[in-house]
Amino acid sequence: MSHIFPRHTKQLPPVAARGEGCYLYDTSGKQYLDASGGAAVSCLGHGDKTIIEAVKAQLDTLAYAHTGFFTSEPAETLADLLIAHAPGDLDRVYLVSGGSEAMEAALKLARQYFVEKGEPKRGRLIARKQSYHGNTMGALSAGGNEWRRAQFGPLLIDMSHIDPCYEYRLKRDDESLEEYGVRAANLLEEELLRVGPENVMAFAAEPVVGATAGALTAAPGYFKRIREICDQYGILLILDEVMCGMGRTGSLFACEQDGVTPDILCIAKGLGAGYQPIGAMLCSRKIYETIENGSGFFQHGHTYLGHPTAAAAGVAVVSAILGRNLIPRVKTQGAKLMAALEAEFGQHPNVGDIRGRGLFQGVELVADRETKAPFDPARKIAGRIKTAAFEAGLICYPMSGTIDGQSGDHVLLAPPFIISDDQIDELVQKLSGAIETAL
Ligand code: PLP
Repeated sequence: MSHIFPRHTKQLPPVAARGEGCYLYDTSGKQYLDASGGAAVSCLGHGDKTIIEAVKAQLDTLAYAHTGFFTSEPAETLADLLIAHAPGDLDRVYLVSGGSEAMEAALKLARQYFVEKGEPKRGRLIARKQSYHGNTMGALSAGGNEWRRAQFGPLLIDMSHIDPCYEYRLKRDDESLEEYGVRAANLLEEELLRVGPENVMAFAAEPVVGATAGALTAAPGYFKRIREICDQYGILLILDEVMCGMGRTGSLFACEQDGVTPDILCIAKGLGAGYQPIGAMLCSRKIYETIENGSGFFQHGHTYLGHPTAAAAGVAVVSAILGRNLIPRVKTQGAKLMAALEAEFGQHPNVGDIRGRGLFQGVELVADRETKAPFDPARKIAGRIKTAAFEAGLICYPMSGTIDGQSGDHVLLAPPFIISDDQIDELVQKLSGAIETAL
């Protein structure tokens, strides 16, 4: 009998045995094409010898040193590497162990920044419906996915959730995509005016929404208008690139393609590529200097901050993404994946939308393509696709999301950047079979 507390207590998973390239194998020898990199983690695929050697070498030298006493060479190198490639005036890197921790740090830094700046009333966060920012209480409060929040309501912090920029469901026929982008961004201004801008510290969003919305990209101009509003009302912009960062969308940081620089940027997943648990919060010089010239102490810390072995993995992964020219590959393979999805599902009566950027793509399923009516949630379409795909040897990331009762079942795809043309075909064929089985 197992003593593991699994995620699904009624559905025990197989035992993973090994990974190689785009495939995972369980102990029975069954092969799985990892088309979501777990949850957009394994950007380099499995079993990458260079990264493994870098981790081993770090373990041989210095496995761990507490940041209350030391910094370390890999942590310094990783911070330099990230800042050298980060947009705008992002200047400092706070290394943590994952995405929720990065978001938690971002929320607390935003709050402490305003307290130290002498604006202690600024404590409210505005975020978006159908978003996910992590599972710890602060990060879960920021997220707008009802299913994930439901039972924890009393523990969550009060904050505002505005509609996301969701062309497929929320754009009107009488407006252009650009007009819709501005209208969607202006919801932030409306909410600021409703709650009083002097009470708000930050707006948080994923540049491309992952887990809860299936690779939802923003309309052109949306984030530029968001940036303008943040500046006008003196609030910080926090971008959560935990899923969509680190080259996944075809640029090292997803926000580069939206032409904006946030005040705080969170990354994780692809930063360690699964070889070590690591995340990071990057912040602007302005924020860092406020703390430096104020209390001189960020009131937030975890034991595994700046973990040298995790940082060494991060250095090796970022160097591989850049040094192996993987970002151009994300674009070419992404275009092939999009074309293959369009060819397979473009006319499918139950596929409403195919979207995404780079190797971060989503397929939204609907009961009726004409009316965009979602499936009855009781049919659990997303869950059924996940099961059927797994059965067929395909790992993908189906989820249901809700905006004001409108449910969208979708499948998120985030394969390793090394995915080949044949593997793209295998992915689409297996996904197609799984969708037919689930329907
Ligand atoms: N933010 C986003 C956008 C995510 O997708 C996730 C995880 O899926 C998180 C934060 C939380 O990251 P982690 O699971 O590493 O704590």
